[in-house]
Amino acid sequence: MSKKEEKSTVAVTAAPPGIEGPGFFATRIDKVVGMARANSLWPLPFATSCCGIEFMATMASDYDLARFGMERLSFSPRQADLLMVMGTISKKMGPVLRQVYEQMAEPKWVLSMGACASSGGVFDTYSVLQGIDRIIPVDVYIPGCPPRPEQVLDGIMQIQKLVESESIRRRDSPEYKEMLAKYGIE
Ligand code: SF4
Repeated sequence: MSKKEEKSTVAVTAAPPGIEGPGFFATRIDKVVGMARANSLWPLPFATSCCGIEFMATMASDYDLARFGMERLSFSPRQADLLMVMGTISKKMGPVLRQVYEQMAEPKWVLSMGACASSGGVFDTYSVLQGIDRIIPVDVYIPGCPPRPEQVLDGIMQIQKLVESESIRRRDSPEYKEMLAKYGIE
């Protein structure tokens, strides 16, 4: 078999549901936007401790986060749309995390990775924030201490499902604004 005849093993994202006929395909604009957003998320890794190391393993060749269109990590909040919080967040670090969240443009999503970010973990002390959802809204939580890379991938796929199915009007809805207002975010 010549090289040209070899079947490609590269997976292609399925088209959103729509109406198809000879020479045309029609679908809804929010389905196309959702598909594009879900497959080109730019994560900002906010890693403070050991969960960050597990995320590095998720990025590396065995698990290969690039398969999800995510090989380009963003260390600038203004060019990121997925905030991944990994590790113990001290109360002193809380305002920094919140500032990073506020600097990200809408639409944005938050993934809380591991017991520490989600609930303070084993550090039930005066200095550790008992869950980042006390200061910013969280979309998906990944349990574990530390979560394995498979769990991180599962969490990311849950985020992708949310992104894909989100209405393009959600961010302007009164419910969303009310939720942000509860966090004191304008
Ligand atoms: S959840 Fe466990 S592995 Fe993750 S940062 Fe906390 S102590 Fe470390």
